[in-house]
Amino acid sequence: MAQARNLDAADLALLNKDGPLPLAAADQMSENVIGTFGLPLSVALNFVVNGKEYVVPMAIEEPSVVAAASNAAKLAKASGGFKAAYTGSIMIGQVQLVQVKDMEEAKKKLEKNKSKIIEQANSDAKYLTAYGGGVTALQWRVILTDRGQMLIVEFLVNVVDAMGANMVNTTLERMAPTLEEMTGGKSRLKILSNLATQRMASATAVWKAEDIGGADVAEGILDAWTMAMADPYRRSTHNKGVMNGIDAVAVALGNDWRAVEAGAHSYAALKGAALTTYKLDADGNIEGKILLPLAVGTVGGSMKANPAAAMCQRILGAKTSGELAQVMAAVGLAQNFAALRAMASEGIQKGHMRLHARHIAMSAGASEVEVDEVVKRMTAGNAINEAGAKKALDEMRKAKGKN
Ligand code: NAD
Repeated sequence: MAQARNLDAADLALLNKDGPLPLAAADQMSENVIGTFGLPLSVALNFVVNGKEYVVPMAIEEPSVVAAASNAAKLAKASGGFKAAYTGSIMIGQVQLVQVKDMEEAKKKLEKNKSKIIEQANSDAKYLTAYGGGVTALQWRVILTDRGQMLIVEFLVNVVDAMGANMVNTTLERMAPTLEEMTGGKSRLKILSNLATQRMASATAVWKAEDIGGADVAEGILDAWTMAMADPYRRSTHNKGVMNGIDAVAVALGNDWRAVEAGAHSYAALKGAALTTYKLDADGNIEGKILLPLAVGTVGGSMKANPAAAMCQRILGAKTSGELAQVMAAVGLAQNFAALRAMASEGIQKGHMRLHARHIAMSAGASEVEVDEVVKRMTAGNAINEAGAKKALDEMRKAKGKN
């Protein structure tokens, strides 16, 4: 992988270290830092998105996520991989105006001065415009709340390759006095919305029925998905499965995964729908699609401060936030498909518990060299649990004369 992804000696040294984030860097990144916190860093393989092959870094502790994503991507490869799209990096920033005396007059003034406000927002704003970004539109809504009417002015901001929260929030704070003057209101909140409906990523893929266990498995996937569309309790878990993959990529690439999570789940709630859709094509194959807001960046935030995140960016090789979002959408679809397929056939526990067995063996005290043997013994004895691990470890050590 070092050769294929052009990793240099410093990257390899980082990967070989226990904990690639230096304490001094961590101390600069947050407050009251007492150490660093590790997660397994893996790579998902076989991802072909818009004809380009990707090695996808994933930071996650949950077993079987990486294997499932890689497997679903491999099966999709047989039909050409994932076709993905991106609407552009437009974030919505909101300024809340309260105590507006004449709403109609305020709205008229905003309409009349719309282009002036946009021009002002983009002037002297190199942080926003230097890379081709800037405010592209202005819109407003009056909302009725328990504390009366409020005027919400929304800036649509092209943040190009950044996640964009700081870029948007800075713009809103700069513009609030102008809006106060124009509307006669008092500005309170000036903050971006994580419901990034102007920054949508989508991906589609086809899985051949013969590759996934036949027509009944395909029908089972449709039944599973239809339940998620109809029932919010199932939908929550369905969408969590999507985010298993997307979050792991966001963490590895130093992105704000809370923002990604907030956007995805609020979009699902807004639509009252699952983040993925499935149907059978004319040949009885499963065609899957994912559509969700994805506010992720390849620049900004703490990305460069964390050397592991910077290296993961190089491993993935996504040059723009749009390219990154499309790969993440493909990962979310693959992850969700893998879970539905497992549940529609053998169930997820067999595969999951086989991998989880390693955690159990380690918790029972197995050393790194003992783990494989303990797992083998637990599996053979059909006792993948703490007692099974302790028994297996005991027997194994006795046999080797260690106890
Ligand atoms: P940022 O403040 O680092 O801004 C990005 C910088 O990158 C800008 O200065 C920009 O000029 C520069 N840049 C260089 N090349 C660029 C390119 N090609 N495209 C765009 N910009 C380019 O980071 P940000 O992305 O504005 O904000 C992200 C951070 O904000 C994250 O750390 C996030 O956790 C945090 N945050 C999130 C929320 C929220 O989600 N609700 C709220 C506040 C802050």
